[in-house]
Amino acid sequence: MHEGRLVAIGEHLAPAAAETHAAAAGLAFFDQIRALVVRTRLPPNTDVYDLFWRYVRDEDHDLSLAIDTAIAHDQLDLAAVAALRRCHCQDDDVGAVEVAALVAAAHDQAEALTQRIEAGRTDLADYGRAIADGGARLAAPLDASGLAVLLEQLGSATRTMQAANTRLHDELAAAATEARELGERLGAAERAAITDQLTGALNRRGTIQTLERAQSAARIADGTLAVAMLDIDYFKNFNDRFGHSLGDEVLRFVARHVADRIAPRGGTVGRMGGEEFIAILPDHDIVAATSVIDHVRAELAGQIIRNAADGSSMGRVSFSAGVATDRVDDSCDTLIDRADKALYCAKRMGRDRVVPDRR
Ligand code: GH3
Ligand code: MG
Ligand code: MG
Repeated sequence: MHEGRLVAIGEHLAPAAAETHAAAAGLAFFDQIRALVVRTRLPPNTDVYDLFWRYVRDEDHDLSLAIDTAIAHDQLDLAAVAALRRCHCQDDDVGAVEVAALVAAAHDQAEALTQRIEAGRTDLADYGRAIADGGARLAAPLDASGLAVLLEQLGSATRTMQAANTRLHDELAAAATEARELGERLGAAERAAITDQLTGALNRRGTIQTLERAQSAARIADGTLAVAMLDIDYFKNFNDRFGHSLGDEVLRFVARHVADRIAPRGGTVGRMGGEEFIAILPDHDIVAATSVIDHVRAELAGQIIRNAADGSSMGRVSFSAGVATDRVDDSCDTLIDRADKALYCAKRMGRDRVVPDRR
């Protein structure tokens, strides 16, 4: 059989760009978290903070109900927090903790800035009073020594005001730098929270966010939207033959292969878990999306994968895929579910193929 292009594996996919959350919403969540910490008398450590972060955002409804019950029975202690985390929180979510901590830092910073500005307002009010007072005294006749005293008082008030102005100016400049740095760290943490660490594709959370936005955009514009569920064929065999670490390289390679080919069409790749990926294709109907994904499939399957380290061949890697398009009454779950069923058909029909949802 014809050997396709040689493939050097082991490159990393650039992390996908992410839109940042509205900081204001984060601050409102922070207030709710603070109220919960006060109410439960739990220490505000990372685990407690993370658990309440999920709760106030209702990220996992079962978890929220469990927390409601524990609070109602006054049973939410550290042991209960640990048990709830074991049951409901996955490692994939660690990025959210970092985001929550940064939002808390932003909140502290905003509070400190408010205090500085308040202090500036007080200085200004004092100065205003000194000027008004001086003006009133000028209205009455003044001898030379009275005038000298008044001028000295006004001069002193002006110097105090100038010093306060300089201090406020410096503090505002420092606060602006701090806010910029915090914003950058928050942006990086938010990207990390929606990025799959192994492949650099979106993780499950990022995928669902992106898909929800794509669904809204498609409905507003009365446009089309397709998703494809992709699953690498016989990947367990690959791991068994070449080891888990080369298996990881293949996951990176496949994620990048798909991303490079669909990104120019406005598509996004997410890793749903294991060796399963999703391609989100705005403005594609079922025919267009199936054709795009089939080209991506054929190109991958036509290549021999080689270990970049020693050039040895690891054979071919293929995937099967199911494609479905968004309907007005679809949720993310129902859309993904139809693509999943089509993927299952592709597997049953022999793998290394793309099947469109026809229902
Ligand atoms: P099928 O064609 O039916 O999809 O067969 P398969 O072997 O790909 O599917 P199966 O579900 O039996 O096995 C999936 C394998 O994917 C098993 C697991 O070891 C491997 N896997 C899941 N996540 C990772 C990962 O992060 N790294 C590596 N190297 N392997 C993974
Ligand atoms: Mg699978
Ligand atoms: Mg598989």
